[in-house]
Amino acid sequence: MRVVSSKDEMRRACRESSRPLSLVPTMGALHDGHLSLVDRARSDSSTVAVSIFVNPTQFGEGEDFTEYPRDLDADLELLQRHGTDLVFVPDVAEVYPPGFDTWVDVGPIADRLEGAARPGHFRGVATVVAKLFGIVQPDRAYFGQKDGQQTVVVRKLARDLDMGIEVVVLPTVRESDGLAMSSRNVRLNPEQRNAAAAVYRALAAGMNLWSSGEADASKVRDAVRQELEAEPLLEVVDYVSVASPDSLEELDRAGRGAMLSTAVHLGPIRLIDNVIME
Ligand code: AMP
Repeated sequence: MRVVSSKDEMRRACRESSRPLSLVPTMGALHDGHLSLVDRARSDSSTVAVSIFVNPTQFGEGEDFTEYPRDLDADLELLQRHGTDLVFVPDVAEVYPPGFDTWVDVGPIADRLEGAARPGHFRGVATVVAKLFGIVQPDRAYFGQKDGQQTVVVRKLARDLDMGIEVVVLPTVRESDGLAMSSRNVRLNPEQRNAAAAVYRALAAGMNLWSSGEADASKVRDAVRQELEAEPLLEVVDYVSVASPDSLEELDRAGRGAMLSTAVHLGPIRLIDNVIME
């Protein structure tokens, strides 16, 4: 496994690698959700590249950029064990050198849901993903359904800018109580960690209602909200959404393929989760 921090060296290493080459972009503090992407990339490709970069431009003012968990030594050990070939670990100045000024704007889908709660977030995400795609030039890139809106943004970016990269989306990996794995979960104390299970329980309640024949999206949203509000430690519910999987516009009727998603504040962190209605 080769660990590279310079863009030029990474570009060269990728050019010299055997194809197909797959990229798994991450912000590190790796867990089984990330590793499910690495494992799939490993079985699909000749070369597996993983990036670890906590991207400052996708964090808003007052968000947790400084507190975001970081553990490079543990990450490298896990990646080695999972058969990674190349790890890209640039610092901020390498990715955003002085004079950097070009941004990727994916249009209105970036302003809904997470984008409404975190203005500028997807501009940062789309820009860093475009840069990683440009440096690595992978055949495929792997993303988790956990960040549902991000998968829509990245697919659109790759398509709209004719990047010729296949975007592969894999299911959310969950803890035994349903909580979606996330690097930020380590910041929860034991009580908050217990309370966090309410997020998936609430989405499951919405799904159950829909599966039993209720297609009115507002009733599904109400069922989710009710379950969230029953957990006193969940402080603020940013949104409960039943949205079109392409445009992310809110739906009146919840049809197959719609994305049921929510974002809540719990102690020091904000939790997001989603399920696809199918
Ligand atoms: P992050 O390091 O949080 O930026 O995540 C890097 C990639 O791993 C993104 O594509 C995430 O959607 C994905 N990911 C994060 N958590 C999970 C999870 N619990 N299950 C599946 N994929 C995940």
